[in-house]
Amino acid sequence: MITPDGHDQTPRFTHFRFGQAPEPAPEPELNVVLAVPHPGPLTPRGTLITCPSCAAERDWLLIQVAPIVFVRCRCTYEWQEPDLGTEEVADTRQPGPDREWASMEEMYRGLGFDGLLAYTYFG
Ligand SMILES: [Zn+2]
Repeated sequence: MITPDGHDQTPRFTHFRFGQAPEPAPEPELNVVLAVPHPGPLTPRGTLITCPSCAAERDWLLIQVAPIVFVRCRCTYEWQEPDLGTEEVADTRQPGPDREWASMEEMYRGLGFDGLLAYTYFG
């Protein structure tokens, strides 16, 4: 609004100036989850790992999220295993190209850890 004496009284936004838009928040670090099937039994520190839910003793999916390792059973029971470290996951990892999954659910389905193969063992 312009006053009769020529002053512009349009409200000004002093906290924003052209060319000084606030920096967009940085993209969050991509959470890389490494999932490695482990068909055999696991005995970290000499103790055989068994599934608390279905008593399975082998055929695991090792899921590494940053330095934390989770064990997932075919019955979909999953827990954090403090006795397993990133070295075990690295040792279990097979050479060859890695496969990328769009989501955890897709990965569980693709690797047969979505519950469909509960109580099923290969080999
Ligand atoms: Zn289980």
